[in-house]
Amino acid sequence: MIPTLSSSATEHETIRVNVLHALAYCPRLFYLEEVEELFTQDAAVFAGRRLHAELEKEQDEEWEELVLESAELGLRGKVDALRTRNGQVIPYEHKRGRCYRDRDNKPQAWESDRLQILAYACLIEVVAGITLLEGRIRYHADNVVVKIPITDFGRQQVQDAIQQARQLRQSSERPPIATNERLCVRCSLAPVCLPEETRLAQDPEHRPLRLFQKMMTEKLFTF
Ligand code: SF4
Repeated sequence: MIPTLSSSATEHETIRVNVLHALAYCPRLFYLEEVEELFTQDAAVFAGRRLHAELEKEQDEEWEELVLESAELGLRGKVDALRTRNGQVIPYEHKRGRCYRDRDNKPQAWESDRLQILAYACLIEVVAGITLLEGRIRYHADNVVVKIPITDFGRQQVQDAIQQARQLRQSSERPPIATNERLCVRCSLAPVCLPEETRLAQDPEHRPLRLFQKMMTEKLFTF
């Protein structure tokens, strides 16, 4: 059974850590999912779920999956796994894909993944009343583990993201499309968002990317 822990309540409904991941990826994606409640089930979504199901089967006594909620922090979510190393509790997040590589080709976390593990760390700190030093993200496609230090700056970024999420929930307007077109190539909601149509409407000279063809190709290779 997965244990559930929570801290005291405030007037705000809690936000899922998963949607903070979407927010860091693209505020419009957050809005489509969280406010308009639009979802598509693409290959990446199914593959991610499959990975988590396989990890649940493989987990031994050292691993523990934990459902957490803190009304005080305004967050809730399910931590993939926790490990204790030298007396320090370390949350783990598992990702099916590859890590980001910096200019020196060193493995790094994607920004949205970094915010996600920081958010889980903040949840654990508030609910358990402990201080964490690091979280880890394992990228299965290239078998890399990236360590994320838990700093005051990171904690503040989580608070800022929660605040932005609350504001967007109150908004009646979709945020603009992402300026970075490459984000749309891997976005599960591109067929709903239609970012290339918007770019073309804004700039008739724009040469649209063929987003859905790429998605279909990925599906063929994934299944
Ligand atoms: S398709 Fe692009 S602009 Fe639209 S939600 Fe996804 S990442 Fe954002």
